[in-house]
Amino acid sequence: MFQSKMLINGELVESLSGETAIIRNPANEEPVAEVFIASRQDARLALEAAQKAFSGWSEISPTQRAEVLHDAAELARQRVEEIGLMLTLEQGKPLTDAKREVLASADVFDYYAEEGKRIFGQWMAGSNLKSRSLVIKQPVGVAALITPWNFPVDLLAWKIGPAVAAGCTIVAKPPSLAPLAATELIKAVNDAGAPPGVVNVVHGRGSEVGAELVENPISRKIAFTGKTDTGRWIMSHAAKHMKRISLELGGQSPFIVCEDASLDRAVAACVQRAFSNMGQICISVNRIYVDETIAEEFISRLVVRTLKLKVGNGLDPEVDLGPMFSQEQRQKTRDHIADALQKGAVLLCGGKEPDGDRYSKGFFFLPTILSNANHSMRVMKEETFGPIAPIMTFRKLDEAIQLANDSEYGLAAYIYTNTLSTAIYAMEKLEAGGIGVNINNVVDLQAPFGGWKQSGFGRELGSYGIESYLEVKHIRFGL
Ligand code: NAD
Repeated sequence: MFQSKMLINGELVESLSGETAIIRNPANEEPVAEVFIASRQDARLALEAAQKAFSGWSEISPTQRAEVLHDAAELARQRVEEIGLMLTLEQGKPLTDAKREVLASADVFDYYAEEGKRIFGQWMAGSNLKSRSLVIKQPVGVAALITPWNFPVDLLAWKIGPAVAAGCTIVAKPPSLAPLAATELIKAVNDAGAPPGVVNVVHGRGSEVGAELVENPISRKIAFTGKTDTGRWIMSHAAKHMKRISLELGGQSPFIVCEDASLDRAVAACVQRAFSNMGQICISVNRIYVDETIAEEFISRLVVRTLKLKVGNGLDPEVDLGPMFSQEQRQKTRDHIADALQKGAVLLCGGKEPDGDRYSKGFFFLPTILSNANHSMRVMKEETFGPIAPIMTFRKLDEAIQLANDSEYGLAAYIYTNTLSTAIYAMEKLEAGGIGVNINNVVDLQAPFGGWKQSGFGRELGSYGIESYLEVKHIRFGL
């Protein structure tokens, strides 16, 4: 069993109260680690350490900060086996996916190490000849980074990379039930030579430790990924001190398949994006709209491909899909399926746990396809965060776009078509922060990622991702 301490001011520490919690493997419900649980007081100590470290870290050169981030990336790569294993054991995802997540996080560190050197200002003519203006950007201060359990390593790297490169110091709060791998990532930054207090991590309940990070005036920026409701709470509480916030929240992503789409490509993309990580991805395919002229063929290929997916313990190299993260997630999935069936959906596959003794423990569930879906169903409106692909047919593209936009969320939307004008028409009309045209992933390290509507605001990744850790300062010169 692992034991995970917190990192405050460069030291691995227990919580002041000594309180611990047991982290369990979602594949068999066995204990995998004991972690120390912080109180508000521990969180304050971490914030104070970050505050103390800020002037030193923000005043060294971006090149020196880059060296630490590059070294941290290298350490994460060297430790990929160990961190990946922790991630599978605490979160359930297949080991190959877990290791890929760790390696992707190392790439994020490398990217922002260099992006930190490209924080440029501007020199401007004054409105008359007697003045000139200079605009510079400076780090915002202590940043609190709060993350969820579905990609606990990667989503934290998206925040640590730009924050640390910009010259901010950080206190991270990984998800309370999956803090192990994320903590290791932060330790890599510390071990790479970040001075004490630059990176800190506290474990514990969102309502206590997370709330302290949000409410305490020391943190000047809150970078949050998680549920829309939690984001709403954070936004209202961060208002008291007018903190900078970026909120990456829930999603309910549509996937439109036009009559002229390459069917094999669309089917493969749809299965992968609907079910990988057991549908527990903010940009998962949640609603499928398929042109009625190709619906029968599309649906039958979708079912055939889905039935080939192997569900099991993420440590088994043959497995495509691990367990769901928790009983709560699995129950929500069951509830959404029951609601849809009661409102007229037809179950084409899945809809239950896999049969067999090896699934008697853990939170396994079969990938599920529902046809005959409509917008009165919860699965078409709420975020399930589970492996369900509900399908509706459409006659005209405008109908599909209108249905796709009939959501309070706006994180990602996908369209498969081989006609350029259709693609351009749809990508301009779809209401989402990321549109995938003939591609099932809107995340790219170089490009901005974030939501519209109740999927939040602020952008991560690319050059956009560093902006929210910077303040703008105008200096005016009188001549
Ligand atoms: P969550 O909101 O329950 O928790 C996220 C984090 O916030 C956890 O670390 C939690 O402890 C903390 N927290 C909870 N209450 C808090 C409070 N009052 N103050 C401060 N922190 C608090 O979300 P979750 O269940 O861990 O994650 C699933 C959600 O995350 C889904 O809605 C999913 O769509 C969303 N998500 C969004 C993105 C994105 O980029 N938009 C990416 C991944 C996941």
